[in-house]
Amino acid sequence: MIPRPFEYYAPASILDALGLLQKYGEEAKLLAGGHSLLPMMKLRFAQPGHLIDLGKISELRGIREDGDTIRIGAMTSENDLIWSALLQKKCPLLVEGARHISDPQVRYRGTIGGDICHGDPANDHPAVMLALGASFVLRSSTGERVVPADGFFVGMYATAMHADEIMTEIRIPTPASGTGSCYSKLKRKIGDFATAAAAVTLAMKGEMVSQVTIALTNVGATPLKARAAEDSLRGKSLTDANIANAAHLAMSICDPSPDQRGSAEYKTAMAGEMTQRALRTAGSRALR
Ligand SMILES: Cc1cc2nc3c(=O)[nH]c(=O)nc-3n(C[C@H](O)[C@H](O)[C@H](O)COP(=O)(O)OP(=O)(O)OC[C@H]3O[C@@H](n4cnc5c(N)ncnc54)[C@H](O)[C@@H]3O)c2cc1C
Repeated sequence: MIPRPFEYYAPASILDALGLLQKYGEEAKLLAGGHSLLPMMKLRFAQPGHLIDLGKISELRGIREDGDTIRIGAMTSENDLIWSALLQKKCPLLVEGARHISDPQVRYRGTIGGDICHGDPANDHPAVMLALGASFVLRSSTGERVVPADGFFVGMYATAMHADEIMTEIRIPTPASGTGSCYSKLKRKIGDFATAAAAVTLAMKGEMVSQVTIALTNVGATPLKARAAEDSLRGKSLTDANIANAAHLAMSICDPSPDQRGSAEYKTAMAGEMTQRALRTAGSRALR
């Protein structure tokens, strides 16, 4: 299939892109790396009349630390995340998550903003964003708002973003030093989306869990924050029984669709398994 005809624009600034979005409204679509949008256009699930390429807007790229916040431009590629010395040192969960995304071709062009804005529960960044307590800067021609990741994903391919908004930046509170983390992903083969995956951050005080976040990929219509599982671990030690109980609580919120990756029961069981693995690995990486 080939896409329906469209007009192509490559604005050089956010302001110009916002002007085009305002002018063409629902008929317009933003293009980032194109690895999700172009397949949808070829299948004619998406049929924009006006395609606004964000690729020439340099102010939308980059990774920096600002006080106790890591700020990442929405057009920063997966590859740039993976090779960022700042992220490797201060936010390794994001690096680990990005390394799990597809293959080098996708990671060279695919962007963190596109992965999040697409609203696909199979994508890896959304759960990582929930685990990291990230928030997203959304800009329109009338202003800017900052929306927490927790609440941003409202349904399958649906987010809290409005049609006239551009995601400009991802903000992540710099994890406290000594925090352990892990993204554990089960996939059928290299390059595949997750059958199930779990993102965990974990801080220990002695042998007790002082802080923990757990978020799940591809076991519901949105990424899932496993709140009861988190609550069950705070102030407890990381024993096999406590980890198994947390995994059980995480499984209780899963509602995956059966497909070629497995039945709903299998995917739910794998979400529990990934949660256990991520908790154990994050625990071994956390400083006591
Ligand atoms: C073979 C293959 C395997 C893949 N495997 C994985 C995987 O394992 N894990 C994973 O997470 N992903 C995977 N992906 C998806 C890939 O990561 C995409 O790159 C990603 O989903 C979208 O990012 P993009 O930059 O390509 O965005 P695009 O495809 O250009 O855009 C996606 C959507 O987001 C919107 N958008 C993009 N940027 C912005 C912005 N700044 N503000 C507002 N809206 C915006 C677009 O309008 C569009 O609706 C795979 C893709 C392919 C082709």
